[in-house]
Amino acid sequence: MAFKPANKIQDLQYFGEFGGVNPSISDSSTYTFLSAKTMFDTFEGNADGCYLYSRHSSPSNLYLGEALAAMEGTETANVSASGMGAITPVLLQLCGAGDHIVSSRTIYGGTYAFLKNFTPRFNIETSFVDITKLDIVEASITKNTKVLYCESVSNPLLEVADIKGLADIARRHNLKLVVDNTFSPLSISPVVLGADVVIHSLTKFINGSSDTVGGVVCGTQEFINDLRNVNDGASMLLGSTMDSLRAASVLKNLRTLHIRMQQHSFNASFLAKRFESDGLKTVYPGLKSHPSHELFKSMMNEKYGFGGMLTIDVGSLEKANELMELMQNKNLGYLAVSLGFYKTLFSAPGSSTSSEIPEEEQIEMGLSDGLIRFSIGLDADIERTYQMMRECMQELNILDTKAEIELA
Ligand SMILES: *Cc1c(COP(=O)(O)O)cnc(C)c1O
Repeated sequence: MAFKPANKIQDLQYFGEFGGVNPSISDSSTYTFLSAKTMFDTFEGNADGCYLYSRHSSPSNLYLGEALAAMEGTETANVSASGMGAITPVLLQLCGAGDHIVSSRTIYGGTYAFLKNFTPRFNIETSFVDITKLDIVEASITKNTKVLYCESVSNPLLEVADIKGLADIARRHNLKLVVDNTFSPLSISPVVLGADVVIHSLTKFINGSSDTVGGVVCGTQEFINDLRNVNDGASMLLGSTMDSLRAASVLKNLRTLHIRMQQHSFNASFLAKRFESDGLKTVYPGLKSHPSHELFKSMMNEKYGFGGMLTIDVGSLEKANELMELMQNKNLGYLAVSLGFYKTLFSAPGSSTSSEIPEEEQIEMGLSDGLIRFSIGLDADIERTYQMMRECMQELNILDTKAEIELA
């Protein structure tokens, strides 16, 4: 694929107010106008380059948005205070009372809770489907459907969405395809594959330092203008605005994303292969055994690999908890939710990030009790990490010591 997302970020040129190599940080909530007429025009949304009030837009937020739009190949983008602060206004902008959404059933727990428990208050209904089955997706569309919603690589089961196939369906039924690309920045470029709107939680890989929450919506100028509209824009009116200081710090971290993603992917791929050959039930899109391995390959910007997320199933929640505690004691990572950090993070999704999903539904979608989700860190010596993790697993009889003899 010819699309080179990291080049698009690298090629942006910034001159700060005083010639600084970083753009100056805008430290104002409000902006002066030289004439009253310009203020009126700006409220009407037709005074380009004028700032009004920082909930609407601010120079620092626009710089970060510009870089993320470049990465995703969209006309523009709108950053927000969190990933949920990007997802919820997009869905409320695209849907009103009586409308219907077809969503993947394996999505981030917060998004699931929003669609399952919150949007019905506004008479917006959602059908949750197995997104890997395009015929089921299409059959779930009704005359009221407005949005197809999925994650390119789903949380936590690492199912892969066929974005081209979904985009075809969306086009035929006049729907918007909205893709949460949080798990696969740079690796997958959903808009290039036909998606209409791409969302990220910047909290994860993109910022990469687990020091803030943040989000972004990447889309057409028209759609982003709609979100920011002072009269009926969901981003503007719900008010989930990122702070300028934070936008500046996320922008600086974004510039090393391509290097970090390569290392996350390298390390995750290394561990996934070893875990699998040790006989552990391992899910990683880079493994040939992954049901969507070929699909991921056909969509990916190869250089960035299959991502930093993997899961293993150790049989029971008890074992999972024991293993996570032991690994944390050995300083192999943190027992923590979230992802994209320089240290490995692990959690048991069934009892944490996906606990919003009822137990029967968890079972149906293959979210088992013994599942551990790993966000693999930037470890410089992944072989050492693997050896130490294996020792932990042997100590808890998750791996028997025979595996060691066979490998030696
Ligand atoms: C974390 C996450 C979100 C929510 O983002 P916040 O920044 O926590 O609001 C949405 N989607 C996915 C896939 C996530 O991992």
